[in-house]
Amino acid sequence: AIDVQGLRKAFGELEVLRGVDFSVARGEVVCVIGPSGSGKSTLLRCVNLLEEPSAGRVMVAGTDVTDPDVDIDLVRRRIGMVFQAFNLFPHLTALENLTIAQRRVLRRDRADAERIARANLERVGLSDKAAAYPAQLSGGQQQRVAIARALSMEPELMLFDEPTSALDPELVGDVLAVMRGLAQDGMTMLVVTHEMSFAREVADRVVFMDGGVIVEEGTPEQVVGAPRHERTRTFLARVL
Ligand code: ATP
Ligand code: MG
Repeated sequence: AIDVQGLRKAFGELEVLRGVDFSVARGEVVCVIGPSGSGKSTLLRCVNLLEEPSAGRVMVAGTDVTDPDVDIDLVRRRIGMVFQAFNLFPHLTALENLTIAQRRVLRRDRADAERIARANLERVGLSDKAAAYPAQLSGGQQQRVAIARALSMEPELMLFDEPTSALDPELVGDVLAVMRGLAQDGMTMLVVTHEMSFAREVADRVVFMDGGVIVEEGTPEQVVGAPRHERTRTFLARVL
């Protein structure tokens, strides 16, 4: 579903991604771990062209997103994105937050959009919050609405960038449970996370990044359980 080759990204003099190759197969869950500033968010942002790669090729669902002729809006429509900040529309209810893009972007009629929205609110355990405004929801509930909103666009794959790191510890579990459910349902997921237990239990593969390169990747047992590189061991010793 995602295939990245020779990806480089520089901001001026600063080389943030220095030749990254990796792929995520359909239905696979890949977790990206690594220290702050290692380029994890930049990598994710290059996948949906929120950042333009300096070099390399990024294929998403069979489309080369680095091709200048590509319709990036069409590609982005197939990618669900969930970030640390939930970015819900504060003046819209949970249900309206889920229907607005369906109606405007996918041109679904109100009845269809609401049916799909309610199904996705149920999927994240928030059927009873359809009429609530974001300010009336906890951080964890807002993040679950953000996930339901992404799902309502029926994406082929989902990108998560530290979706739980802005949450109070007691709210993290509900969000991770929703993500675990998605993984079990076969969603293709690329997840930047500091939640090592999630990576261990849910990821098919773990990628460790440091200094703009992939230092090692493998199964969670390999990378988290028995890291081969000193840099990986040092990182894990700090976060575990
Ligand atoms: P964290 O764990 O803190 O989220 P990260 O691994 O996601 O870190 P990135 O956000 O990808 O790291 O940033 C990698 C480097 O690129 C950092 O040094 C950052 O300051 C720099 N950087 C990111 N975005 C920009 C930008 N738009 N302009 C200039 N530098 C940037
Ligand atoms: Mg980041």
